[in-house]
Amino acid sequence: MTVVGGGVVGLTAALALAGAGHRVWCVREVPAAGTVSAVAGGLWFPYHVEPRDRVVAWGLVSLARLTGLAADPTSGVALRDGLLVERAGPDRWWTEGVTGWRDARPGELPEGAASGVVARLPLVSMPVHLAWLEQACVAAGVELADGRVEDLDELEDDVVVLATGLATPRLLPEVEVSAARGQVALLANPGLERWFVDAGADAGLTYVLPHPGWVVCGGTDDPGEDEAPDPDVHGEIVARCRAAVPALRDAEVLGSRVGLRPVAPAVDLRLREVRGRAVVTDVGHGGAGVTLSWGCADEVVALVAGLG
Ligand SMILES: Cc1cc2nc3c(=O)[nH]c(=O)nc-3n(C[C@H](O)[C@H](O)[C@H](O)COP(=O)(O)OP(=O)(O)OC[C@H]3O[C@@H](n4cnc5c(N)ncnc54)[C@H](O)[C@@H]3O)c2cc1C
Repeated sequence: MTVVGGGVVGLTAALALAGAGHRVWCVREVPAAGTVSAVAGGLWFPYHVEPRDRVVAWGLVSLARLTGLAADPTSGVALRDGLLVERAGPDRWWTEGVTGWRDARPGELPEGAASGVVARLPLVSMPVHLAWLEQACVAAGVELADGRVEDLDELEDDVVVLATGLATPRLLPEVEVSAARGQVALLANPGLERWFVDAGADAGLTYVLPHPGWVVCGGTDDPGEDEAPDPDVHGEIVARCRAAVPALRDAEVLGSRVGLRPVAPAVDLRLREVRGRAVVTDVGHGGAGVTLSWGCADEVVALVAGLG
């Protein structure tokens, strides 16, 4: 069968399908290192994605897989403690089934914050993890190919998985997905281990996600498709992350990146029949593609198994 897309969603689906015994051809216009997935900060956290009940179920599958992968240093996954600030009071829907978290103590919170959660969660260094996924796919027998699919009719397989993110409507116009632009700054890591997320800060969305060697500092989340980093916005992101995490004050600025989150009214993970072909869409993961990747991949396998 064919998987179209080589970001985190396509690669995990391809790997899961190969693991279930399928012969898989994975074709992607842009290899993993150039995708939106490579820009992601890599925290396991269901941000800007719907619907909550399915997100919780997919997220728990991924949480278990990523927690297991943290034992393998080549996977790019680490378990790290950090603080999620809740400006408007507790909002804990995402903790269903999640262990390893507690209420933040008042002294741990920034000024003006009502509450917060301290949790140990997977933090995924995306460039490393995507390279690991590509290698794991090859080792599992997935054939990775470069190429842009212009039309589903050019594919030979009867079963196609579309993990094409924001570009999906070009192949299947009925799929609703739009871009939520995210700009981040990359700083050298001065030795930080704890992550920090303050989505409701007055100064704007603020997050600090430390990886070995670099820190992903965010960010923005606005409608728009401009992939060029805005230098003014870059300066603002660096300033508010340094204010939130003073250890970053003297950290060297390494660069600036933009990624377009593929946001949908609800993650579009379903089986359709399209001109005689079985098409499974796995699209619209918004700000949570890493968080949901493995759970969605397992559901792709289940949908394909249902074809008999
Ligand atoms: C700034 C930022 C921070 C983020 N932080 C996090 C985070 O901390 N945690 C988290 O879980 N998520 C995070 N996300 C969200 C996450 O990055 C996305 O949800 C995820 O990358 C979507 O993955 P994808 O594989 O669907 O899409 P993509 O990574 O965009 O991959 C799509 C693939 O499909 C291919 N493709 C498309 N059309 C065609 C075609 N016609 N023919 C062939 N190939 C095609 C592309 O070339 C590419 O290989 C963040 C996003 C941004 C922008």
